[in-house]
Amino acid sequence: MKTVALILSFALALASTPCGAVKKRVALTFDDGPHIKFTKQILDVLDKYGVKATFFVIGENAERYPELVKSEYEAGHEIGNHTYSHRRLGSVDRAFMLDEIKKTDDIIYGITGKYPILFRPPEGRTSRELEADVFAKSKKTVLWTIDTRDWAHNPLADIVRTVKTNVKNGSIILFHDYITPYSETPDALEKLIPYLTENGYEFVTVSELLTNN
Ligand SMILES: [Zn+2]
Repeated sequence: MKTVALILSFALALASTPCGAVKKRVALTFDDGPHIKFTKQILDVLDKYGVKATFFVIGENAERYPELVKSEYEAGHEIGNHTYSHRRLGSVDRAFMLDEIKKTDDIIYGITGKYPILFRPPEGRTSRELEADVFAKSKKTVLWTIDTRDWAHNPLADIVRTVKTNVKNGSIILFHDYITPYSETPDALEKLIPYLTENGYEFVTVSELLTNN
């Protein structure tokens, strides 16, 4: 009898959970790395707040800094494929792109032991044919919904304002961990992560966002 009462009170407690408690979710993404300085800084900020994100790495940078890709992976972040040399579709053809995707897949596999399932084309330039080829390789092409323009040295206040103004449940936010010669991105994260958390957002990887939405 006692057990039944306990189960009943548990069920009532669940039923009384207010609808407002439903979490909003957002995916932070970082392109073009790894970068010897900024990737580490970004990883430290993410670790400080216990946030999981997605890194779209360039094959030649991953080859240069495999230990940083390993750190990303071991910290629980998702690794995506952003081609080998960051040539955009149009300046090279689809066969070239597919070759670079394969090469980068193998580099990532060599570091993490896992093939990436996400692909982000440089500059977001894709085509129906390229997407179909990527899909045939069991991959998903992922773009973004908010561009912070950190790569163009958008000032810190503008990066923060862009995200605050546009964020909503399901947003995929584009940042870069490889920017030269300086980057506002780590400081922007220091401002945005607490803000988004206070506003009821939960941080997930892109695959998590796409799987459960
Ligand atoms: Zn890029």
